[in-house]
Parts: sequence; structure tokens; C-alpha cells
Amino acid sequence: MPGRNPTNATSDTSGEPLSPRSGRSTALFRLTVTFIVLVIFTFTSVEGWRAWRDYQQAFASARDSATNLARATAQHAEDAIRQVDVLTDALAERVQGDGLENMNVPRIHTLMQQQARIMPQLHGLFIYDATGQWVVTDKTGTPEAANNADRDYFNYHRTHTDPNVRISDVVRSRSTDEYILPISRRLNNPDGSFAGVLLGTIRVSYFVDYYGDFKIDDRGALVLALRNGRILVRRPFLAQVLGKSLEDSEIFKRYLPVADEGVAEVKAVVDDTYRLYAYRALSSYPLVVEAGLSRESYIGPWRRDLFKTGLVLLVLIAGLTGFGIIVLRQLRERIAIEEELRQAHQAMRDMALTDSLSGLGNRRRLDMSLGDEIGRARRQRSWVALIMLDVDYFKRYNDRYGHAAGDRCLRQVADAIVQVLKRPTDLAVRYGGEEFTVLLPGTDLDGASVVAEAILQTLRDLDIEHLDHPAGHVTVSAGVTAAQPAVEWVTAAQMLITADACLYTAKHKGRDRWHACATQSGM
Ligand code: GH3
Ligand code: MG
Ligand code: MG
Repeated sequence: MPGRNPTNATSDTSGEPLSPRSGRSTALFRLTVTFIVLVIFTFTSVEGWRAWRDYQQAFASARDSATNLARATAQHAEDAIRQVDVLTDALAERVQGDGLENMNVPRIHTLMQQQARIMPQLHGLFIYDATGQWVVTDKTGTPEAANNADRDYFNYHRTHTDPNVRISDVVRSRSTDEYILPISRRLNNPDGSFAGVLLGTIRVSYFVDYYGDFKIDDRGALVLALRNGRILVRRPFLAQVLGKSLEDSEIFKRYLPVADEGVAEVKAVVDDTYRLYAYRALSSYPLVVEAGLSRESYIGPWRRDLFKTGLVLLVLIAGLTGFGIIVLRQLRERIAIEEELRQAHQAMRDMALTDSLSGLGNRRRLDMSLGDEIGRARRQRSWVALIMLDVDYFKRYNDRYGHAAGDRCLRQVADAIVQVLKRPTDLAVRYGGEEFTVLLPGTDLDGASVVAEAILQTLRDLDIEHLDHPAGHVTVSAGVTAAQPAVEWVTAAQMLITADACLYTAKHKGRDRWHACATQSGM
């Protein structure tokens, strides 16, 4: 209801906006929450990104290490075998040229001994005749009944004319009991028929020692295998894996058919361990090397680092959250206190500006608004009107009906006024005693007169008995004034004086009426 609430905002300045201090605290609260969330989010994102980058790096460097290992072992195997290949080729050339029967055994034996000395990988050099019988070796003295006709490579060369070396499965040497890798080639008679086999054997320990020199973790693996999958050498070296086949492993099944070298993270068939394997097929020989690093070896340090940073981050977040909670709790308390204060202040302000009898604003309320409204009307080049109302013969009413009835009557008059006012910016106050004032921003003299008449009529219609009134019921008189401050300079006092003068005129003319006159600056 317009005018009923004494703090009803009729202007920017007279109403009570949200306490700026309470607003500031709420903003501070939001700012603190946002800040904490932002800091936590930033820390987590940065650490998350760092962990991801470290993981990628760990993976990339493991790939590099495995690839380098595979290259080194491939090169090593190739070199070791090539030397035997070249040597046996030269020997074969010589033996075949002389013919096996005409061979100068002591000279070949010396030659073999010389070569065996300068080649550390060489376990032995052997020449067998077509029956598998030893003819000459690098060893001194010939063991009895040393016949190798049963060896796989012997059978192969006997039945194949292939002039290249053949690398066979690892076997145990009959002469020294060592694990050896046989590299053999066929010897032909001048007519091309099978004359025997030239065999060079490489110590498996030569590879095992070399592989052992690499600094890889306990679960890492280095493997040398035939292209068909048969394992020749492995680190860690286990006798039982010799001759086992990798043909069912993923690298042999999926990767090798596609590319001669590569990297893949797969499960080993030998020990069911996940490793990052770099593999490489040798270009000159049907051999494959694999270098595998266990997942733990490169992920482990990363995981430990992640755990440590995660722990630090967690402590940091917990500390920050704890700190944030304390700050926020204090802020919330402060906001609550400020709100209470604001409400108390508001209540006091309301009380100070309210007329307790009618519930309308009081004279102070009008004093606060009138000046502001005149200023606003001046800026907006609009009108502002004021109606001053006075109950007719009210002294008589009090005298006849008593003071309490008089109070009741005043409340009815206040209600009637409020009932007529429609705009939220209209303001009705009890100016004092049985006088009321209505402030109508944006209303000219005619409009204000209509409002005044409506109030008068409402009271007539109420028909409140007043037997000591010539009309027999309570009436009011009104002085109406309006001004356009942009056109003619007026003050609040001038408007009040004019309204009062008009009211006096209305009384003088017989009461229960209104009289209107514009406020002029000269008044
Ligand atoms: P007029 O028509 O010329 O205005 O005559 P009037 O009797 O109304 O004017 P006057 O100023 O002589 O009397 C005002 C009376 O209003 C005096 C007082 O008894 C009464 N009055 C003022 N304030 C209150 C109030 O708060 N309660 C009550 N019940 N009466 C009040
Ligand atoms: Mg009076
Ligand atoms: Mg009166």
C-alpha cells in the first residue's frame, strides 16, 4: 500500500538500500570461496598435467632405452655371427679347393687355432666328412668316436645345397659340455656332391656375458631368437627356456610380419610379465632380438614420484581447505552479525520515521522525501504535488466521543487516504495531530485535486458519525498545491506553506472541500 510503509522508497536516497557493508562481506565470502576453489583447481590441474607429462616422458625414455638395447644386441649378434660366417667361408673355400681328401690337415688345424684365439666368441671350428666324422678341428687331439652325423645341421646340409651358413638351435657341446650356437655350412666336392660340414660354434656365454653388462632391472629381458621363434639366448639366462619357441608371442605373430623393428607393450610368453619390448630382425641372418623393460622399471619411479607429489598436494589442499573453512566461518559470522545490525538499524529507522497511531510515516519522513522529490522533479522536468489534509471539527469529535474514539477515527482517516493512493511512489504521512499530508511525485495540480477529492469522497462514503458536525459525519478539508521546479524554483517549505494556506482557504470556505493553488517561488 502506498504511503503505509514509512520507508517506502520515494527516492533513491530516502529508501534503505542493501547495507553496503553487508554486501561487501557477502562479496568477500564469494571471493574467498572462488579464490580457494581456483587455487585448488590450479594446483590440481598443474600437478595433473605434470604427472601426465612425466608419464609420457617415462614412457618415451623407456622406448628409447629398449630401442637402443635392441639395436646394440642386434649389432652384437650380427657382428659375432658375421665373423664366423666370413671365417668359415674362407675356410670352406680353401678346403673345397684342395678337396677334403687332399686337405693339409696340420695347416688347417693351425689356421683354425689361430682364428679361435683371436675370436673370443668362438668355441670351436670343426670339419666333418660326409659321414659325420671329425676330420680336423681347432682342438688338439681328436676324441674317439666323435661323429656328428646325428646333429640337425648335419642332416640339413647333407640334404640341402644351400651355400649359406645355417644357424641352428643351441646345443650342449660334446667336447666341452658348454652351451653353444652352431654356425655351419655345407662343403661340396668338386662335382657339387656333399663332402661334409664346416662348423663354427659360438659360446652362448659370450652373449650371456654381454647381455649381463647392461644395466637393466631384474625383470627386464634380452632375447636372441631364431626367426622361427626358437630362443637361443636369454637374459636372465635359464637353461629350460633354450629351444622354447616365441612363435606364439604377440611380437612374432602380430608385429614382426608387419615391420622388422618396432616397440610394443606386450606380455611375455616365457614368464607372463608385461614389458615394453623393442624388437629387431637382423638384416643378414634369420635372427630376431628383443629387449624388454618391465613396466615396473619405468612406471615405478613415476608412480613413486606421483605418490609423493600427490601427498604434498593433498596436504596443501587440506591445509588450504581448513584455512578456507576458518576464514569462511568467520566471514559468515560477520555477515550474520552485520545482517542483525542492519535489521536492527532498519527497525530503528522505521520506528523513527513511523507514526505509531496510524502506521503511516511521520513528519520527519515527509521532510526527508519532499526535498528529494522536488530535486528529482527539477531534474526530470516533471511535477510534484502536495496535499495537506485536516479533519474538520475534530476537537468537538474528541470532546463528544472521547480521545480513544478520536484515535480510532484518525486511523480510519489514515486508511481512507492510503486506500485512495495508487502509485507506489505516493507517500502519505501523519503530519501532526489530526493533520495528514500526501506527497504525489509526478502529479500536477489537476491530478492532485482529483486525489484530494477522492480522499474527501472516501471519507464521506465512510459516514463516520460526528453529531457535532453540521454534516453529521466526519469530513476533512484539503489544501492542494503543485509545482514544476524546473520551470519555477520552489522549496519544500514553500510548498508546505502554500498547501497550508490553501487548507486554510478550504476551511474558511466551509470545510469538507479542497482548495488548490500552485506554489510560487515568491511565497
Ligand atoms: P477545524 O475544523 O478548524 O480543524 O477544527 P478542529 O477542532 O479540528 O481544530 P483544532 O485545531 O481546534 O483541534 C484539533 C484537535 O485535534 C485538538 C486535539 O484534541 C485533537 N487531536 C490532536 N491530536 C490528536 C490525537 O492524537 N488524538 C486525538 N484523539 N485527538 C487529537
Ligand atoms: Mg488542525
Ligand atoms: Mg481540524
